[in-house]
Amino acid sequence: SGERFAMPEYRNPVDPPDLGLLPTFRRLLRLWRAQWRLAVWGLSCSLGYTLISTAIPLLLQRAIDRAVVAHTQSLWPYLGGIVGLAALRFGINFSRRYATARIGIRIEARMRELLYEAYLRFPRAFYDRHATGQVLSRATNDLYPIRYFIGWGLVQGAQSLMMIVAAGIVLVLVDARLALYTAIAMPPITVLALRFARRVSPISRQVQERKGDVTEAADEAVVGIEMVQAFGREDDVRGRFGGKAEAVRDTVLRQAGVESRHLPGLYYLPSLSIAAVVFFGGRQVIGGQLSIGQFVLFETLLLQLVWPLEALGWITNLAQRALASAGRSFAWLDGIEPLPEPASPRHLPAGPLEVRFEAVRFAYGGETEVLRDLDLVVEPGSIVAICGSTGAGKTSLLNLLPRFYDPTGGRVLVGGVDTRDVSISELRNDVALVTQRPVLFSVPLRENLTAGREDADWDEVLAACFAAGVDAFASELPHEYDTLIGERGVNLSGGQRQRVALARALVTGARVIVLDDPLSAVDTITERRLVSRLRPALAGRTVLVATQRLSTVELADRAVVLLDGRIAESGTPRELLRAGGAFTTLFGDEVAAA
Ligand code: ATP
Ligand code: MG
Repeated sequence: SGERFAMPEYRNPVDPPDLGLLPTFRRLLRLWRAQWRLAVWGLSCSLGYTLISTAIPLLLQRAIDRAVVAHTQSLWPYLGGIVGLAALRFGINFSRRYATARIGIRIEARMRELLYEAYLRFPRAFYDRHATGQVLSRATNDLYPIRYFIGWGLVQGAQSLMMIVAAGIVLVLVDARLALYTAIAMPPITVLALRFARRVSPISRQVQERKGDVTEAADEAVVGIEMVQAFGREDDVRGRFGGKAEAVRDTVLRQAGVESRHLPGLYYLPSLSIAAVVFFGGRQVIGGQLSIGQFVLFETLLLQLVWPLEALGWITNLAQRALASAGRSFAWLDGIEPLPEPASPRHLPAGPLEVRFEAVRFAYGGETEVLRDLDLVVEPGSIVAICGSTGAGKTSLLNLLPRFYDPTGGRVLVGGVDTRDVSISELRNDVALVTQRPVLFSVPLRENLTAGREDADWDEVLAACFAAGVDAFASELPHEYDTLIGERGVNLSGGQRQRVALARALVTGARVIVLDDPLSAVDTITERRLVSRLRPALAGRTVLVATQRLSTVELADRAVVLLDGRIAESGTPRELLRAGGAFTTLFGDEVAAA
């Protein structure tokens, strides 16, 4: 029974919860710190910018008080000073933008690299659960707010704070009471900016998510374009795509609505401070306690504070969006485990390998079991056909051998070693799988054939091509074996693709060959010819071949029938037909017709 091998239950990865805001921020800061040179450069520029921005109004004040009002000094040095400092500030600003843009772009690239590396090691179960569009969106759309926040946002935020502090100090030093009066607009600005950020950030997040939906819908339509056109589903697809695009539009409009209700207020409030200076400061000038220069200094500094205050609002908003996006990405990076590798891997023995399934149970996620307590032994060097109606679990069974999935109970042994005790690379090196719908790479046919073993001897490749029937069509291709295959080259037919995949598996020299309905798209006459050629080509290897066709069963020494998640029958085709059980139910009609 299933309890014979009490292995810890393998759990297919579920979607991990997003990282919280603080852990996400810490992870982002770690990426940021790796760019410390640029960060120091950017922050130094910000400091310089702040100092100059405070110095210019101070110069202006002196120019007015000493040159314009009192005539004690010439205006020219002030003019030169202001023009010079402004030019310097221009250069510094330029340099800061350059540094922060580089930080943002580098961190975006790093995140994308991390994601793509992770995508390559994520187990198959991950891809069962996530739509391609969403997976791609996370490595594209979702990274933009991160780039802007981590590049522009962090340094701009620091600069805004510096500006506020520097201007505050100058204002207090010149006239503390007046500074207090002008501060009346600050609390409402802060409240409004925070309220704005709070209102707009969930909407921004929705915009982000809905853009992902649009990518997903577009991806489905493009990938499934054959079905769409063949079944005249264009209207349906257009409707669904249109619906998602409209959802993006509506959300962006809502975002614009929130912005238009808050931003004018943010722009309006500073004028209250300016008015306060005109009123209180004006009275002090009249009373002689404040010079005209100081009056202008106040106004100028206040005007310069408007943008930093607003920038803080924007950055809070940007931060929330960036942290939300990054939190989701980090959740995948941290939370999705690749298939566990053995701590101290064992090696496969020499010679032909036995394949053994012991009390194997398997379910996708937590759903109903596809395999229930399945036992099967394939003797070294023999060929076993796995028969079963569609959906019986043949593909699921075969996918356990190269560990695309791990069994949820029992164990799978190759050469007497549990597949989980061998390193994945060694296992996959000796288990060659031809999938039910093989995919070829967009490279020349030659490279497709040697993809599993790049140093393969060309004579061996040609022998494999003969056995798999690739030779029959390869000579007809425009550049024979050098013909480019795939989207930018020649599209092969389904049956041709199957044969290339078959030859590719033969070339690898793997001792276990797993064929998932390898000749289903090949006509019966070709199939018969290939079966007779394949038998000698497979000699000495252990082969499992899933099939729904009796003619492919003839390739095998023995056939088993998969029924209700376990092996129901086993024997030679002739024995099984005589027995009149499940095998006869599957193939009886075919035999009668022959
Ligand atoms: P066919 O002859 O049509 O290829 P099969 O015998 O290979 O069928 P499987 O593909 O192994 O059958 O499917 C067995 C069961 O597992 C089916 O009920 C199917 O719906 C389910 N199944 C297959 N792949 C997945 C998956 N990635 N996630 C969840 N369920 C799956
Ligand atoms: Mg299948």
